[in-house]
Amino acid sequence: MLDIKVTKTTAPKEKPAGALGFGKIFTDHMFVMNYTEGLGWHDARIEPFADISLSPACVVFHYGQEMFEGMKAYRGENGETYLFRPERNAARANESNRRLCIPEIPTDIFVEAVKAVVKVDEDWIPTEPGTSLYIRPFVIATDAFLGVAPSKTYLFMVILSPSGAYYSEGLAPVGIWIEDDYVRAVKGGMGYAKTGGNYACSLAAQVKAHDAGFSQVLWLDGVERRYIEEVGAMNIFFKIDGKVVTPMLNGSILPGVTRNSVLQLLTSWGIPCEERRISVDELLEAQAAGKLEEVFGTGTAAVISPVGKLRYKDDVMTIGDGGIGELSQKIYDTITGIQTGKLDDPFGWRVMI
Ligand SMILES: *Cc1c(COP(=O)(O)O)cnc(C)c1O
Repeated sequence: MLDIKVTKTTAPKEKPAGALGFGKIFTDHMFVMNYTEGLGWHDARIEPFADISLSPACVVFHYGQEMFEGMKAYRGENGETYLFRPERNAARANESNRRLCIPEIPTDIFVEAVKAVVKVDEDWIPTEPGTSLYIRPFVIATDAFLGVAPSKTYLFMVILSPSGAYYSEGLAPVGIWIEDDYVRAVKGGMGYAKTGGNYACSLAAQVKAHDAGFSQVLWLDGVERRYIEEVGAMNIFFKIDGKVVTPMLNGSILPGVTRNSVLQLLTSWGIPCEERRISVDELLEAQAAGKLEEVFGTGTAAVISPVGKLRYKDDVMTIGDGGIGELSQKIYDTITGIQTGKLDDPFGWRVMI
């Protein structure tokens, strides 16, 4: 058991009315824990949400030594609070930590910290359909030192943000830009870690895609620029001729919790799934033969993001009729149903707080 000192705010904020959007509103409290070499993780506490003070020389500002996670808390129909597979996020956080020379956080302590701060701010979990409380655990390197070396001190924090329905009018298909110039990650790099650097390096392509009228970037492999990797903050799935395929985890792709859940779900439904290399040519050929039936992204924020349009160089492919595929909708309904307690949970994914 983690000994957490709780200091409640004396000035609770007004809960937001109306549209929540994503990531702009923060709850009343945050979890904080320090790491000091020789001492380990210490001083676990929950405090009023507030700005923090750091030296401008901190390692994180200059060399990007940091890790983050993304997960959600959901409100059940009878007021219960649920997390979704939190132990997976805890385990993945440590995979990122190891890659970035950040000390590991015992997975039970990670989950306990998340549960504790969500419990304190439970009233902030929105109740409208499709809404949730977004949870952002992260670690930053805090040594005030400009030499390039792993920091000896860190902060682990968990902040919470009520988030609106990703699709206010039901699932809406997005347009995706297959990037053929910039790359996100290569094998041996840190593509499989959830860390700010991967996002910093994605911004230029994201801006380019937006300017061209597409909402997200689909990355190709960093060596041949030929094999499909993943979308900005989502893994990607294709339904080709009745079979579902997704790129295999190859070291440069983020191992999504949603990706893993979708694969388990499809397998349980008897739908053939393959994790393998997929070339962009294979997609173009499948589309030409009328066999590219559905494309969807998977991630915590949107759960399932149907793709209506895929651009590659001079080709713009409209997937199916440009609307939402039947399978995409069914997966979305099932996973969100399990998350919010509306459906049975045969896989044991839901964790009540
Ligand atoms: C977080 C993330 C995902 C999705 O992972 P989930 O665990 O399903 O939310 C996919 N790709 C990248 C690059 C990510 O950062």
